[in-house]
Formats: sequence, C-alpha cells, structure tokens
Amino acid sequence: MITPLLPTYARADIAFERGEGARVYTTDGIEFLDFAAGIAVNSLGHAHPHLVAALTEQAHKLWHVSNAYRIPQQERLAERLAAATFADTMFVTNSGTEAIECAIKMARRYHWAKGNPERYRLVTFEGAFHGRTLAAIAAGGQPKYLEGFGPATEGFDQVGFGDLDAVEAAIGENTAGILIEPIQGEGGLRVLSPAALRRLRAICDERGILMVLDEVQCGVGRTGHLFAHESAGITPDIMAIAKGIGGGFPIGACLATEDAAAGMVVGTHGSTFGGNPLACAVANAVLDIVLGDGFLERVQDIALRLRQGLAGLQDAHPDAIEEIRGEGLMLGIKCTVPNKDVLAALRERHMLAVAAGDNVVRLLPPLIIDETDVADALERLDGAFAAVKAATTGDAA
Ligand SMILES: *Cc1c(COP(=O)(O)O)cnc(C)c1O
Repeated sequence: MITPLLPTYARADIAFERGEGARVYTTDGIEFLDFAAGIAVNSLGHAHPHLVAALTEQAHKLWHVSNAYRIPQQERLAERLAAATFADTMFVTNSGTEAIECAIKMARRYHWAKGNPERYRLVTFEGAFHGRTLAAIAAGGQPKYLEGFGPATEGFDQVGFGDLDAVEAAIGENTAGILIEPIQGEGGLRVLSPAALRRLRAICDERGILMVLDEVQCGVGRTGHLFAHESAGITPDIMAIAKGIGGGFPIGACLATEDAAAGMVVGTHGSTFGGNPLACAVANAVLDIVLGDGFLERVQDIALRLRQGLAGLQDAHPDAIEEIRGEGLMLGIKCTVPNKDVLAALRERHMLAVAAGDNVVRLLPPLIIDETDVADALERLDGAFAAVKAATTGDAA
C-alpha cells in the first residue's frame, strides 16, 4: 500500500527534532555531527541565533504579500547581492530548480529580444544536475531522471564535463549559451579548473553566446569565495543560486547582467511565493554573516584543516580511498569501497554526509564548523572506513 508521502525517496529511518551549530538531535535525543547540512543548505548550521532572530522578528510583522507590490526585504537582498557580484539584477525564486528555469528562459529570451529567436539551445555537461523540473532534467541529461517522463524538453546539447573541444564543436547557429556548474555536486565533486572556466568565458565572448553558471550548490561561501567562479577571475552573464542563501529557508535567485536580462520585461516571468518578506528577511540575515569581516577567510582556514585531515585519511586508507576532490567546504572522498557502505557506517557513528555520483562520499558541513567538528569528523570517517574494509575482507569489524 502506498504511503501518504509519495515514495520518491529511499529515506534513512532517522528523524531529527532540533539542531544547534553543526549538531542535530534525533527525536530520541541522539546527537549527530552534520556534515550534510541538508545538502549544502544549512550554511550557518542549525538554529543560528542571528537567523532565528531575523525569522521571528519578520514573522511577527508580515510573511507574504505578493510581487504585485514592492517588497523592501527583496529589494534589499537584490541590492546587496548585486553590490557583491557581477549582477545588475535578479529574480527571486523558492528553489534551485526554479532559479535554473528562470536562467534558461532568460538566456533564450535574450537572443529573441536581440532578433535571433533561432538561438535557444544550451550546451550542457555530462554528470550535471540542475534540478527536477522538465527543463532542468533535460538540461541535466541524466537518463535515470528523464525516463518515463515523455520526450525530453528540447534545446540541450550535452558534452563531456570540461571537454572544451566538444563545447566548441557543439556550438552552432542555434546556440544561446553554455550552462555549467563550476563544481559538480551530485555528479561527483568534479571541479572545473579555473583555466577551463576562463576558456569557456572566452568561447562565449567569441561566439556571442551567454555563460550561465549553476552555483546553486557551490555558491554563497561554500568554496571560501562568495561564489565559486570568483577564483577563476571571470564573471558569468547569468547565475542561478539557492541552497545556502536561505540557510534553511527555501529561497533561490537568478542573477544577471543588465544586458543578459534584456528580454525579461514586465509579464515575462513570475512567482507567487518567490522572494516573499519572510524568505528575504532570512536571506538578508545569511548575508549579514557571510559578508561579515573575516567570515570567508575563516571558511578557507577551516576548509584547509579539513582537507589536510582528509589527505591523512587517504594515507591511512589507500585501499579504500582513491582521491580527495572539491574546493573549500564542498569536498568529496572518491572511494574504491562502495560509498553507500561508508555512509551507512558513518551513520552508525552518528555522522551525516551525502552520496554523490562516481562513488563519492560528499562532505558539505555548515560553514561555521570549528576545529573540534573537523577532528570529530575525521575520527568518525576513520572508523567508518576501517569498518567497511573489515566487512568487505570478511574480518570481524
Ligand atoms: C540542488 C541543486 C539544484 C536544484 O535545486 P532545488 O532547490 O532542489 O530545486 C540545481 N542545481 C544544483 C547544482 C544543485 O545542487
């Protein structure tokens, strides 16, 4: 018999009741170290006092009006993100996939507005994940997400991740732009090199097409930069963000330059909930912290500590770990033992992490972790790898 909840998730049999910082507590009071952060969402950990205050203060005033009116919290969020990035303008959404949807529409509409309606296709990359709307699963191109949902939405040409020659070959008279994650999360923590990002930027400029970045997972401080592309010294034309910007409140945005947004005039796009006062009050509070003095430097420092520790972990388990990947606090352990077994062993040791493609264990801790959290995580990872190896060689764990 079907459950009241549509059974689209293979859920672990744990439920959490509350959290504080990088720790969450189950309904029966067991503490877990949270290196999943709701998949890079709880950027400031759980129950951050500044976010709790912003949320409750706004909750007493006004939750929702409509985008038919001015929303000062939304205007403030946009002004601050524009000041901190390449963007001149943005559309505020409720999720990552909606930010991507807006980005795709914007890229197509740009060329339409410039008199080139035939330019509607985007070059995308193998292993990509852009969300679960019909357009986003077509952009991601993963058969397991497309199967059974009818003809894939037209307009995406997929090439190998980072295959610049294939990008050049795929661009034709119908191409509107390139859509890429600077670091693939779900695809296995695959990092596009700064040189490759710069080359993609140059290709877009040479061919008169738009560079669209998906920073839904790697953005908002996760890499130790406000946005991942900054380390390459380039800027995109359009960028989708979500996850970390709400710190746990559902919100996303599609950021753009004035030129790239040229086609998005009154009536071309909308959202009932997108950017309501409650969501924007929380996102502004996230920015208070992330844009605060020294915050990103601290992320870089603690990320380096974790990275060094993971290198040590690999040295200790060369027969189970092939590689450490990623940037900042978006890290992946490429395993030679099954990643699902490692995640189960971690859960037994009361630590949460996330699976990724390519047999990777993904670590996405809150950006506020400290030395104790890192030491704790390394110890639990060491125990988990030892246990998985013992189980696979048939020894008693
Ligand atoms: C999570 C994610 C999305 C989709 O975001 P939702 O909020 O789940 O719709 C899109 N792109 C990337 C890179 C993501 O990690």
